[in-house]
Amino acid sequence: MKTLRLKPGKERSLQRRHPWIFESAIARGAADPGETVRVESHDGAFLAWASFSPASKIRARAWSFVETQRIDAAFLASVCVRAVKARGLFDLQSDGVRVIHGEADGLPGLIVDRYGDTLVAQFLSAGVERWKDALADALLAATGLGKLYERSDASGREREGLKPITGWLRGEGATDITIREHDWQLSLNIATGHKTGFYLDQRDSRQRFAELAQHRRFRRVLNCFCYTGGFTVAALAGLKAAGALEGAELVSVDSSLPALNLARANVALNGFGGGQGEGEGEGEGQGDAGSGAKTEFLDANVNTLLREFIDQGRTFDAIVLDPPKFAPTVAHAERAARAYKDINRLALKLLEPGGVLLTFSCSGGIGADLFHKIVASAGLDAGVDGYISERLGAAPDHPMTIEFPEGEYLKGLVVVRKPA
Ligand code: SAH
Repeated sequence: MKTLRLKPGKERSLQRRHPWIFESAIARGAADPGETVRVESHDGAFLAWASFSPASKIRARAWSFVETQRIDAAFLASVCVRAVKARGLFDLQSDGVRVIHGEADGLPGLIVDRYGDTLVAQFLSAGVERWKDALADALLAATGLGKLYERSDASGREREGLKPITGWLRGEGATDITIREHDWQLSLNIATGHKTGFYLDQRDSRQRFAELAQHRRFRRVLNCFCYTGGFTVAALAGLKAAGALEGAELVSVDSSLPALNLARANVALNGFGGGQGEGEGEGEGQGDAGSGAKTEFLDANVNTLLREFIDQGRTFDAIVLDPPKFAPTVAHAERAARAYKDINRLALKLLEPGGVLLTFSCSGGIGADLFHKIVASAGLDAGVDGYISERLGAAPDHPMTIEFPEGEYLKGLVVVRKPA
């Protein structure tokens, strides 16, 4: 068994069960990619069993802090079983579920989402790459499913010195899948969609938006960075429950044409769209399929479009801002902060008095406090007074743990503009 010896003082974070061992903390020791190493303090005390990653700044990631634990297929299988069991603790209201959420589930670098009867996995560290076969079998056994598609094409692979790999790892089936979520259905594509195909983490914020739509009977909704239309479908479902579809207008914006086409299809799938003026494969269009609501899908850059809407004097009583990750790490925080502030300032200007803004950041490099400050200063610059009425976060199948604060990547705020 190979050993990593840490520099004096570098044992602290492992003693607090934080799973990362940075290159700079290591005095000596090396191993093959993904090989299990014994990590010890400068004076030889056991700290953890970890997988070695020679290419990454995160040079090793802990599997276990128990000295007697053997790291083998049986151990990994037990960790998978425990993660699946944990999902049963929450009322998730969906058959799209994050089954393994990396470090928070004790499997650093592994992301597994379940869509109906299909698992989709991202193997993003040297450790889980080395144990891929054992993990694939363990995941299917733990879930009782037969199909696993690999989407190991995220940028994190590169930092681990791993090449992108995609395709069926176990079984085979359709890559177009429809899931049920709360009161609606959503189609996604596991081969071509972002990440594993869908943003499961926003599930409960979509539900919150549906509730707000029902209560507030929104007339004009703007869903920015709509991807496959989840927040739009949620708003429509809420309006339907309130009997308030008639005359509502919903604008959905994204810069990805395939995503927009799926957004339109998802609106239709739930009985809200698919009307005239919507050519097959066309990026933009309007529709009213008798649901009474008008839906519009715009292939545009959100930053440009928000400015155009301001020039046109358009306003909305509900806006969603769910941009991509502007700051993957703290190093990008400053530039990202400006970008977040900019879109929030523009969105707040478009918000009617009494209107509601749901604004999000999925940047690990921007903490909840900083995000709050960014949105507050966007309000100041926009000359818009608001209440922060709620804080939102990732759904509970994307758990945060005490040991791993990096797990809190997604934060959202509900801002209500003060009435005139
Ligand atoms: N709200 C979505 C997830 C949004 S992901 C959901 O609930 O599923 C972020 C989206 O922003 C992606 O679909 C991406 O295509 C889009 N995007 C990134 N930069 C953009 C830009 N400048 N203008 C418009 N869309 C953008």
